[in-house]
Amino acid sequence: MELLKQRILQDGHATEDDVLKVDSFLNHQMDIALLNEIGKEFRRRFEGEPVTKILTIEASGIGIAAIAAQHFGNVPVVFAKKTKSRNLDGALYTAQVKSFTKGIDYEIQVSQKFIGPDDCVLVLDDFLAKGQALKGLLKIVRESGAKLAGCGIVIEKGFQDGGKLLRESGVRVESLAIVSSISGGKVTFAE
Ligand code: 5GP
Repeated sequence: MELLKQRILQDGHATEDDVLKVDSFLNHQMDIALLNEIGKEFRRRFEGEPVTKILTIEASGIGIAAIAAQHFGNVPVVFAKKTKSRNLDGALYTAQVKSFTKGIDYEIQVSQKFIGPDDCVLVLDDFLAKGQALKGLLKIVRESGAKLAGCGIVIEKGFQDGGKLLRESGVRVESLAIVSSISGGKVTFAE
């Protein structure tokens, strides 16, 4: 997605530890017009999929998913929670996730009330690095008995192996920008 790539080149910052910082438009301050174009592009790529729910993970996935949902007929957005909360009652789907950016393990949780066998789920997230967050979300979709439409990612870091491993396992992964390198502070794209 050209608009997104240009924005990454303009405002993204590569850190020495393989993290691409995009907090001026995606991870902290959010550019809503850009998120709207991202939502449209996800819709174009998943055209024809009978999506009934979008599943994402807090925090950065929520804004992306909420705006994308408007291009999928306002389907509900469910976000996996990273911390236990008194608001979360009843039976839960859970999965262990290793955080790429924080270097810790945590458990993600989704109430069983909100995803079930009648759903067709589109999973969305901001970044794909080693694939840990997506793997956790996919485990939850599997356990729910829902059909998986696929995964939509805003920025995939193609120099880490998450995307490759997920695609090899048969999961449809659509990434709007695939970064092939951020070494020396210079961002380059795969295509
Ligand atoms: P994974 O689980 O695929 O290893 O990492 C994906 C998760 O880690 C995403 O949900 C995202 O929040 C975070 N993440 C991984 N790499 C980056 C990065 O380079 N920049 C930012 N901003 N977040 C990242």
